[in-house]
Amino acid sequence: MIHSEPMKPALMGMQPDELKTIVADMGLPAFTAKQLLQWLYQKGVSTFEEMTNLSKVARERLSEQYTIGLTAPIAEQHSTDGTAKYLFPTRDGHTVETVFIPDDDRGTVCVSCQVGCKMACQFCMTGRQGFQGQLSVADILNQIYSLPERDRLTNIVFMGQGEPLDNLDAVLSATRHLMADYGWAWSPRRITVSTAGLRKGLKRFLDESPCHLAISLHNPFANERAAIMPAERSYPIEEIVDLLRQYDWSGQRRLSFEYIVFGGQNDSNRYARELVRLLGGLECRVNLIRWHALPDEDRFHEADATRMAAFRDYLTHRNIRCTIRASRGQDIDAACGLLNTKEKTLSTATSVMDNSSPSATPL
Ligand code: SF4
Repeated sequence: MIHSEPMKPALMGMQPDELKTIVADMGLPAFTAKQLLQWLYQKGVSTFEEMTNLSKVARERLSEQYTIGLTAPIAEQHSTDGTAKYLFPTRDGHTVETVFIPDDDRGTVCVSCQVGCKMACQFCMTGRQGFQGQLSVADILNQIYSLPERDRLTNIVFMGQGEPLDNLDAVLSATRHLMADYGWAWSPRRITVSTAGLRKGLKRFLDESPCHLAISLHNPFANERAAIMPAERSYPIEEIVDLLRQYDWSGQRRLSFEYIVFGGQNDSNRYARELVRLLGGLECRVNLIRWHALPDEDRFHEADATRMAAFRDYLTHRNIRCTIRASRGQDIDAACGLLNTKEKTLSTATSVMDNSSPSATPL
């Protein structure tokens, strides 16, 4: 971790009232706060010079005390299937990975919300990385506003590194800025927050956020799920589903369950039957995700396509909507469970950058 100079607070992530107070304290006209909101959350500019309708005095005063908080990625990697992975620096000197997934007329960004993760899911490289820190609202929004494909975005999923409900204030704040009229006015139907299940955060998320929810399920049997997802021990999937049944999923907000299919481990009829028992009658969909091998890992095996199709058909015939998710970005370790920035500190990434082009370098 390196810091070349004392860090100024970032304006990105601040609420309208906070900006009003800053503008008033600087003796600037009150309408400057509204202009700032638009430059930050609609246009997503990364320098004060670009805020052309602000007076020179306003720009100078603001830049003396604040930074915008947007930074371009410092490294990148591109898959043969069009998926792109970016390494973004965080405000406190770490790095996180962000993935852009193009798909016909859709463009989805998979955003990280923590440096590493505490949840320790056995199949996940981020879980193996351990927890190194929370991302600020600015760090989260930076992955969206500074994404090279920003203008192609149609969807945002919080399925990158970290457990969103373990950094819920920042995640809720970031999504509110995106949905606000002063921001992109995005519909909550374009934003999905994914969780392994955190007791403290789930009810609050359900009560406070209109965004879609995805639950990482991966195994319907408590003891087997606990063996690969320690979160099961503190918040069993049965209790999670009980809570979810108390909410209405027939409207705009969508509930999905992510199910990584591990070959020979959770793909037989026994698991499909138990899933039907667990989720029966609940308005939801199940997304089957093909497992990708981890480096130095032989505990989990790749799923068989025929078996996955049979599993999908079993659920579908019992009124549980189920789709097999296309696997994307596997060749650049951008697929589910493969994100990892343990060794990628800002200092090492910067040294890579020094040896080549002034833009982002290959990861
Ligand atoms: S799968 Fe998600 S919750 Fe589990 S360790 Fe990885 S990042 Fe954390």
